[in-house]
Amino acid sequence: MAKSAARRGKLWTTPAVQALRAAKDVDVAELDAAGTPGFRGDKVAGAALLAEREPRLSALQEKLYANGRSGDHRAVLLVLQGMDTAGKGGIVRHVIGAVDPQGVDHASFGVPTEEEKQHHYLWRIRNALPRAGRIGVFDRSHYEDVLVVRVHNLVPPDVWEPRYDEINAFEKEVVDAGTAIVKVALVISKDEQHDRLRERLERPDKYWKYNPGDVDERGFWPDYQQAYQAMLDRTNTAHAPWFLLPADRKWFARLAVTELLIHTLESMDLDWPPPNFDVETELRRLG
Ligand code: ADP
Repeated sequence: MAKSAARRGKLWTTPAVQALRAAKDVDVAELDAAGTPGFRGDKVAGAALLAEREPRLSALQEKLYANGRSGDHRAVLLVLQGMDTAGKGGIVRHVIGAVDPQGVDHASFGVPTEEEKQHHYLWRIRNALPRAGRIGVFDRSHYEDVLVVRVHNLVPPDVWEPRYDEINAFEKEVVDAGTAIVKVALVISKDEQHDRLRERLERPDKYWKYNPGDVDERGFWPDYQQAYQAMLDRTNTAHAPWFLLPADRKWFARLAVTELLIHTLESMDLDWPPPNFDVETELRRLG
């Protein structure tokens, strides 16, 4: 354990939680999407470390779940935002893959359904919040309501503009009720997106991931950058901070999210819940 911690310390020169925390004056256009902030290992070292850290994440998640079963109302919510092909799905697969799926509440948010359109935009979000003891994963989120909605003028500015403050207040309420929120913006370069879309068109096993609309959205790149910038400027709060994750290297994005979740769970100071029965009596009864 001590040896692996020392090795980890050498690879992470700055802990992920610090290296990736979006700075107040961050300029999203300046971010190097191929960078590995805080980490000085390569893909091989990153993959090895990830394999080593997954059991830690899994053990912490089991403790969170055990506490949830014993009346603790706390939970964790991982919010994933990013342009098409940024790797949100890969992170979901990875996070759920590393832990007991019973302990994960997963939700993805696409174009609102007819029913969802009848409600306030946070309605479907509230309904999908993780239950006690769970790790919730949002593949897209309420931030679509200030991203795609803003870029395409789906509602007028006087409707989307107040949403930043409203989202901050909503997240405060969620955090105060015991759910830690980890917001991750995956940032890929335009070139990398091109290559990932091209791969989807060149491989029959990837056609299913291709959506012609993705190419249309790509045409709005600068507008999306502006919308992401506004999102970071307006909703990067102390209670629900944004982490800005360079995502051209999938191995790094997965390792980094694992570290962010481990950090969040460790900060919760989880212990195994005490028994709600008398152990001695039960041992005697069992014989
Ligand atoms: P993905 O592209 O992530 O695989 P989907 O095919 O379900 O998933 O598509 C998600 C699409 O839904 C994206 O284009 C996204 O911008 C859009 N979307 C999500 N939330 C909203 C919203 N509130 N209003 C309009 N469009 C939305």
